[in-house]
Amino acid sequence: MRILTTIFFFFILGAIQCTMAQSVQTIRGKMPARKMGLTLVHEHVFLDWTGAERMQASAWNNDSAVAVILPYLRKMQSHGVKTILECTPNYIGRNPRLLARLADSTGLHILTNTGYYGARWDNHIPAHAYRESVDQIAARWLEEFNHGIDGTTIRPGFIKIGVDGDSLLSEIDEKIVRAAARTHLRSGLTIVAHTGPDQLALRQVEILQQEGVALDAWVWTHAQGGSDAVRVALAQKGAWISLDGLGWVDPAERAGDSTGLMNYVNAIVHLKKTGLLKRVLLSHDAGWYTHGVPGGGRFQPYTLIFTHLLPILREKGFTKKEIDGLMVVNPRAAFAIRVRPKN
Ligand SMILES: [Zn+2]
Repeated sequence: MRILTTIFFFFILGAIQCTMAQSVQTIRGKMPARKMGLTLVHEHVFLDWTGAERMQASAWNNDSAVAVILPYLRKMQSHGVKTILECTPNYIGRNPRLLARLADSTGLHILTNTGYYGARWDNHIPAHAYRESVDQIAARWLEEFNHGIDGTTIRPGFIKIGVDGDSLLSEIDEKIVRAAARTHLRSGLTIVAHTGPDQLALRQVEILQQEGVALDAWVWTHAQGGSDAVRVALAQKGAWISLDGLGWVDPAERAGDSTGLMNYVNAIVHLKKTGLLKRVLLSHDAGWYTHGVPGGGRFQPYTLIFTHLLPILREKGFTKKEIDGLMVVNPRAAFAIRVRPKN
């Protein structure tokens, strides 16, 4: 009898862990990851470039923003998109109340984030981040994960950070990466790291390994700025390779320069040849309504993947299963909340 009870206990525990392992945190609460459906992992709806120390959320005009953004979201939904990750970090226009209105109007599942953005010359890093320790910064992000952001009950579904530099990470950027690693280990949230070139990716990987975080907890964001060789090397170690600037390519350009559509196609084909398609994420990094610019400024649509990229991949022999892998299965695997310690 005792053995049966023990088996039953572990069965229930396993079932609970299994369910927990498959949920994501949307702005409307926890949701089974299987409900994400077709997902765009890196988009923006709103930005405020003012800078961390001068930005005022009270000045944002959400009514005007909703009117501009909604038609673009609806167009995206006409291609079957069910979920987006809104990648605008705190101190650069993260706007949870606006996201809630957009989710209500469209029925989209929207994930927002916690973390700080150290790219763009650290203009969006708040002053307290320089004074505080790594653990104090992580505690602020965990507070958002546990209780909600900006006075709302909306909780982050991932960690968004940014780094930049010519070859090495700056001291503050390194601190942000360590804080992200420690926040991951205490929350299970995936780290989305605005990165770009190889050397910044490799340096982050060293830090994550020192902090005891497995690479499948980390998304190399803007990996289109890296090389085939390093993308393959890091994907083999488990990193997520995010090819995510597709909103900004010229669809007429098929010659294959470093920022063109064919650059993406070639990178994806190379990852397929090396058996690593299951580590790849795709998105547009498009949008957005810019605070302080009349009418929100120029808006890039969220549709080029559907109108141009996927048709080319199909021409090149990608199967429905492979495309579903890129757009449905991989996002679900990347963002299901679970702690991923380094073995
Ligand atoms: Zn972005």
